[in-house]
Amino acid sequence: MWVIVDHTSDEVEDVALELLGLARELADRLGLSVVAVLLGDDVGGLAPLIGQCGADTVYLAESPLLGAYNPDAHTPLLADLIRRQRPSIVLWGATDQGRDLAPRVAARLGTGLASNCTRIDLSEDGLLVMTRPVYGGKASCDVVCPQARPQMATLQPGAVPAKRPDPSRQAQVVPIDVSLSSQSLRLRLEEVIKIPSSALDVTEAEVIVAGGRGVGSEEGFHLVEQLAHLTGAAVAASRPAVDAGWAPYERQVGLSGKTVAPRLYLACGISGANHHVVGMKDSRAVVAINRDPYAPIFQIADVKVVGDLRQVLPSLVERLRRLRQERGTAEDEEVLRTLANMPAARQVS
Ligand SMILES: Cc1cc2nc3c(=O)[nH]c(=O)nc-3n(C[C@H](O)[C@H](O)[C@H](O)COP(=O)(O)OP(=O)(O)OC[C@H]3O[C@@H](n4cnc5c(N)ncnc54)[C@H](O)[C@@H]3O)c2cc1C
Repeated sequence: MWVIVDHTSDEVEDVALELLGLARELADRLGLSVVAVLLGDDVGGLAPLIGQCGADTVYLAESPLLGAYNPDAHTPLLADLIRRQRPSIVLWGATDQGRDLAPRVAARLGTGLASNCTRIDLSEDGLLVMTRPVYGGKASCDVVCPQARPQMATLQPGAVPAKRPDPSRQAQVVPIDVSLSSQSLRLRLEEVIKIPSSALDVTEAEVIVAGGRGVGSEEGFHLVEQLAHLTGAAVAASRPAVDAGWAPYERQVGLSGKTVAPRLYLACGISGANHHVVGMKDSRAVVAINRDPYAPIFQIADVKVVGDLRQVLPSLVERLRRLRQERGTAEDEEVLRTLANMPAARQVS
């Protein structure tokens, strides 16, 4: 069972660690070994952690031509390696790179690919059962790939928890020959332009404050940001809020954005459309503020605040600011208690 490892120059991406834990568990049930494939320039230093997180072997392909993602380099290299070694399963993160690369490799190999999976398990006869959203997240379906090999899936970041690294585990590192020439690459990376992002990544945040169309304006969205700041939360947004330019795309939660599972998700002016909910339904506690008592988001909310954000948000920010001045922090429970004590609030559980 193979895991294609997403990484930056000096860090393994969380989704790769999540996949390694999952692969370890599935491979043990099938009696397979776990091979991690690490492509990059001078990335061998990442191999020990990959071993500790579940891989038996790391295939290490290093070349300056693999320093930045280039489909012209990565696609043939991986397709050839898979053709030669014939793994039965290949798992990828549903990251920008995984979403681009996995279908290219699948097409070259003539096999299938279940993309954007939220769950991967095994059937009774040992086939990979790949669960993915369909019809815009209104339903999910189980996909199996009974004949073509390898069975391939991309898994959404945050869909499964990462296992704790086991320092006693060590992977065997196998160098892979890279015979690439720069002449064979039709694409050339000119420049990487970093989109400025606030410190907290939504997929890793424990607490998220999200704003939707109901926030009403850029100024309204600043209140969402202030609330996030006061609670040490990451800011997220629904698609209309991103489309309006109030938040960058990397903050979008939902079917065409990120999947998150924080301890607390505070949804401000978000109706709870399926396309959004599919990305946050695994949050441990959901607080929703909405003026429409019949908004679908209330069906999954633990604390409902039926009220106008233009009143609720400034007053909540003010109360939390006072709390923070008095105690130094505003913990989740205080946020929940403050919300539940607001005049418009109805606590459902
Ligand atoms: C293929 C596809 C992919 C999509 N992917 C995503 C995705 O990844 N993420 C996503 O979010 N959406 C996605 N969408 C869009 C999705 O279907 C919804 O349109 C969107 O989630 C609605 O966003 P919203 O809740 O912010 O806005 P709305 O549905 O317009 O809801 C606004 C809410 O704010 C409330 N409100 C308004 N004013 C106030 C006020 N003053 N005080 C309190 N409450 C107020 C309203 O009662 C309403 O419930 C996708 C759609 C498609 C077709």
